[in-house]
Amino acid sequence: MTTTSSPTPVTPAENPTLPFWRTDLHELDEIRTTPELPETSDIVIIGGGYAGVSVAYHLVNSQPQNTPAPSITILEARQICSGATGRNGGHLRPDVYHATFQCMEQHGIEAATELAKFEVSHIPAVRDVIAKESIDCDFHLSRCMNVYLSDENAEKAKEIYDALHANGFPYADNLQYTPQTEAEKVSGVKYAKACISFTAGKLWAYKLVLGLLARIIKEDSVNVQTHTPVISVEADGADHLVHTPRGTIRTSKVVYTTNAYTAGLLPEYATTIVPCRGICCHIAIPETETAPYLEHSYALWNKEGKFDSYLISRPDGSIIVGGASTTFAHAKEQWYNMTDDSTLIEPTKNYWDGYMQRTFNGWEKSEAAVKEIWTGIMGYSYDIHPHIGEVPDKPGQYVCAGFNGHGMPVVFLSGKGIAEMIHTGKKFEEVGLPRVYRTSAERLQAAQEGPEGGSILA
Ligand SMILES: Cc1cc2nc3c(=O)[nH]c(=O)nc-3n(C[C@H](O)[C@H](O)[C@H](O)COP(=O)(O)OP(=O)(O)OC[C@H]3O[C@@H](n4cnc5c(N)ncnc54)[C@H](O)[C@@H]3O)c2cc1C
Repeated sequence: MTTTSSPTPVTPAENPTLPFWRTDLHELDEIRTTPELPETSDIVIIGGGYAGVSVAYHLVNSQPQNTPAPSITILEARQICSGATGRNGGHLRPDVYHATFQCMEQHGIEAATELAKFEVSHIPAVRDVIAKESIDCDFHLSRCMNVYLSDENAEKAKEIYDALHANGFPYADNLQYTPQTEAEKVSGVKYAKACISFTAGKLWAYKLVLGLLARIIKEDSVNVQTHTPVISVEADGADHLVHTPRGTIRTSKVVYTTNAYTAGLLPEYATTIVPCRGICCHIAIPETETAPYLEHSYALWNKEGKFDSYLISRPDGSIIVGGASTTFAHAKEQWYNMTDDSTLIEPTKNYWDGYMQRTFNGWEKSEAAVKEIWTGIMGYSYDIHPHIGEVPDKPGQYVCAGFNGHGMPVVFLSGKGIAEMIHTGKKFEEVGLPRVYRTSAERLQAAQEGPEGGSILA
């Protein structure tokens, strides 16, 4: 028997901060399908966030006809969706702009188009699955406004816009550039020097994931076990033994949907997917006050040209806002290689007090105030792209992790790709995933040999 996992696993913290999204819990939040763990399962999925549930949903829904359904077990260390998915900004924002441009510069227009196509296709995919499964998760389409407050960023924004058009980037038609003369009026943001908008969505991700889970647990083949942290995974011939404090499951296929915590079970990913702490809050106005409803969602860069915050409005007019990395980037011990979401980021905890009043026209007298504030742990990928596919040198083990602060337009169809690989035995290249997502020994090696933090600390 060969031990293939870390002796000191990284598992989620106890007593995490309470995000707004987890103030209205679903009845399946702490589900245990059976009192005991099954002794065997054809497939074990580790992690009950968006990725874990997406993989399971697609496994159930793409089951080849006339074959018996494989047994699937989902093991979750805390509650369903208690990780990044239940603590995020709710912004489904295919990045057809900055990330696409960066990918075009690094890998060429073909790879960039593939990436953008994949992200953009999440909007109809998520909309359609919500309709198909009748999931009430406050899904709304919007235009995301990238708003720039510095002249330099405004000029750069126009350059990128022109370059994407000049290179024939197929999604360039969805971009709307607004120059300084109208930027403040169009965006509603004070002192805006330019803005670019494109199609995006906003949603209550916790409710989406729990809705998908509610659908698949109707199948006898699916067993879900919360409060069951996996301690290690051991190869045993062609099988794997998945060890937890509640017992061991024998399986032929393991899927790691552990995102930020992946290195706890796959130590070879320690420099490749680094846990990094982020912070978000919910801002509301008193019932007696009013403020303009924000139709758009936002990504905002400040007067110094640095990324400031991203935000969405909720159907009730309240706001979810996250980011603020300028306030804590210098204090590495507050966020880098950090799995503790039980406390706030100290330098940031008061940053959004008065934020709406100082940022948006018409909000000055709203008395908008922070209602809930929380932290969450993201899995930052060394080269910014997630790791999807079979773990190098570990047949039968799959990874679907490393989604950065950008999982909403990436996770759902990545889960579909993994499900197809498992059901059909197809290779990564055959299931329609962007080439830059393929996990590989080369990408692991680059992270091990490159400067600490890679793109994260650059
Ligand atoms: C503060 C914050 C704001 C964000 N804002 C946005 C946004 O607005 N838009 C966007 O696109 N993305 C955003 N993101 C990123 C997005 O939320 C993630 O990329 C996405 O949710 C990742 O989903 P996941 O299922 O891979 O990870 P997670 O939701 O973290 O799920 C992983 C699960 O694995 C479990 N687990 C880990 N180790 C083990 C183990 N050993 N045994 C059993 N279970 C284990 C964890 O408990 C967790 O539930 C944000 C993230 C944070 C933290």
